[in-house]
Amino acid sequence: MPQTEEKKNVREDLMERIVSLCRRRGFIYPGSEIYGGLANCWDYGPLGSQLKKNVKDLWWRTVVQERDDMVGLDAAILMHPRTWEASGHVGNFSDPLVDCKKCKQRFRADQMEEAAKCPEGGQHEFTEVRQFNLMFQTQMGVVQDETSSVYLRPETAQGIFVNFKNVQTSSRKKLPFGIAQIGKSFRNEITPRRFTFRTREFEQMEIEYFVRPEEADASFNEWVDQRHKWYLDHGIKADNLRLRAHGADELAHYAKGCFDIEYMFPWGWSELEGIANRTDFDLSQHMKFSGKDLKYFDEETKEHVTPWVIEPSGGVDRAVLAFLVDSYDEDETVTAKGEKDTRVVLRLHPQLAPVQVAVLPLQKNKPELVELSQKLYKSLRLHFLADWDGTGQIGKRYRRYDEVGCPFCVTVDFDSLEDKAVTVRDRDSMSQERIPLDQVFDYLRKKIFCRE
Ligand code: ATP
Repeated sequence: MPQTEEKKNVREDLMERIVSLCRRRGFIYPGSEIYGGLANCWDYGPLGSQLKKNVKDLWWRTVVQERDDMVGLDAAILMHPRTWEASGHVGNFSDPLVDCKKCKQRFRADQMEEAAKCPEGGQHEFTEVRQFNLMFQTQMGVVQDETSSVYLRPETAQGIFVNFKNVQTSSRKKLPFGIAQIGKSFRNEITPRRFTFRTREFEQMEIEYFVRPEEADASFNEWVDQRHKWYLDHGIKADNLRLRAHGADELAHYAKGCFDIEYMFPWGWSELEGIANRTDFDLSQHMKFSGKDLKYFDEETKEHVTPWVIEPSGGVDRAVLAFLVDSYDEDETVTAKGEKDTRVVLRLHPQLAPVQVAVLPLQKNKPELVELSQKLYKSLRLHFLADWDGTGQIGKRYRRYDEVGCPFCVTVDFDSLEDKAVTVRDRDSMSQERIPLDQVFDYLRKKIFCRE
């Protein structure tokens, strides 16, 4: 087998292993499974929903909580239909579509590599290319007519633009400042695929950063650097992350520049997040369509300014998938009996891990061990994502927690009753350290929250 093909197979196999781990351990299940599933819909299970929440919390912490110039927003999914005329989505948010007249399958005309053979035999017989609008339409209220039609938002950004004036006046922010929002978006994608990478319902984390026109270029470069660094800071390997500048042919007519942060997924480089300089397009459009003045008034210079906007826009599901793929590892170990074994481990950043510490009594049938370990567990879970588990051999329990990315296991054994200390095992090095019970909290706090 040629080397590149072999490499491709290994990478594809990796995706299958991750999908299987996600299902087995409760990260991600096929949606509506008991009814045979609903194509390309996925449900996040106990560990997946926690991991996703951790990704969103870390993003919020970095871009809102730790900055003076940023505030948050949670706008409605349903917006006035004029919003989507102003934003250009009614007129332009479409992909080129072709149908095969024989097998009835639909393809994106710009992604024809997937349309190799027709299942009805021979080559596909394609229709002319037509534009297919990706917005989901639904009816609002009990009367169904033209005026009750609304869209499920295809991006969260417009909720920020229409609230620009509300937020600016109520928070009294001065330029430059930004608004951050996390929420669901919907796109009727022609070819959803690749697990959670491209779905019709997904979550976005978006920022609109408002600046004076002359500050836009510098701010754009700053956001590109900061967003790139955020993925690296939370464990993505530098070799698997790259920045790609959009060529002039890819840029929206109003955008002045755009960079994609791309991740090396098992199928190749694909977009995680886009950072765009959107000029004053959005606010100007909403002023035109709503007739409202959305200009910023500068108290000092007495000037009215239409701010320019820098938009870092990322996908929550894509970030979760990248963190899972990047942290997945298998290493060779030796069992207690001296046999070779393969260990599956998610080397997740401790702040992303859905379980940060597992407290394990060495034996479940010893009440004094159960009591002491439960007491420790109950005190730790006030501060960390903690689990308690008493079933199975200790080695097997370590493996179970390695597989879900838990960075620390704390074992309470018979000596603990005497020396008031426990064994802390590190997921990555598998090394064990004896730590006095009254220092466990500090030890974990430093390891989990003060890495640098
Ligand atoms: P793509 O080219 O992959 O369709 P896009 O350039 O249309 O993405 P944007 O409109 O820039 O995407 O949306 C911002 C972010 O939202 C993307 O970087 C991605 O992380 C996420 N996203 C967009 N569409 C989807 C989808 N169908 N499923 C999951 N995430 C998505």
